Amino acid sequence: MNASFSEMYRQLNEGELDEHAKPDVSTTAPEKARTPQTIPQESEPSHPPRPRMALVVVDAQNDFSEGGSLAVDGAVTAFRNTYLHVAGTANKYDVIVTSRDNHIDPGEHFSDDPDFVDTWPAHCVAGTTGAEIHPEMQRALEFFAQLNPHAVRIDVTKGEYSAAYSGFEGRTEAGVLLADALRASDIEEIDVAGIATDHCVRATVLDGLKEGFSVRVLRKQIAAVDADRGDFSLMEMESSGAVLA
Ligand SMILES: [Zn+2]
Repeated sequence: MNASFSEMYRQLNEGELDEHAKPDVSTTAPEKARTPQTIPQESEPSHPPRPRMALVVVDAQNDFSEGGSLAVDGAVTAFRNTYLHVAGTANKYDVIVTSRDNHIDPGEHFSDDPDFVDTWPAHCVAGTTGAEIHPEMQRALEFFAQLNPHAVRIDVTKGEYSAAYSGFEGRTEAGVLLADALRASDIEEIDVAGIATDHCVRATVLDGLKEGFSVRVLRKQIAAVDADRGDFSLMEMESSGAVLA
């Protein structure tokens, strides 16, 4: 199929085309009674279109990875698992999201004596290497883009002047909140990967549910600051309606 036909086919399946733009099946389809041997043509697909999905990659940044200023054990393994996940599934996603912690002056979020629950060593300062997406996740994102060049990429940053754990607090460069950006792409379901299970992944999953999305947590593609709190967070996400995959 060429590109335009392929796009038309997609729109037709998703019911986006205007009535007048659809092929006129009423004149081209033979009537059943006269030609019973012909398979009837249907104007609508026999299966409803699948829900539109986004892969949401939370804070896969250098400072949250091994070697970073707020290193989370298992981060790089999680990113490699996202690469493997993408290899088999890139085409089921219509959108891929990256959220990034992007601190300029986040006040008490940073501390010289952090408790690693509410206060943290300085991390993901805007414009620094620590704030960049980790090379292993970058590799997964590039692989995704090769496999599924039609997917929309949404990048949001958060935390400029205060703590911000949820990716749904993030905004695009144009200032659009993540939930609105997802709805603009008709997304209904999100799969969540990234760092950290007990903080930004947890907050993103819970906010995603509150915003009305179906949410799956990709357990092999996340890592926790604290293992026990990570396990507790997974139970909390599940009891709130997320599916643990
Ligand atoms: Zn932060």
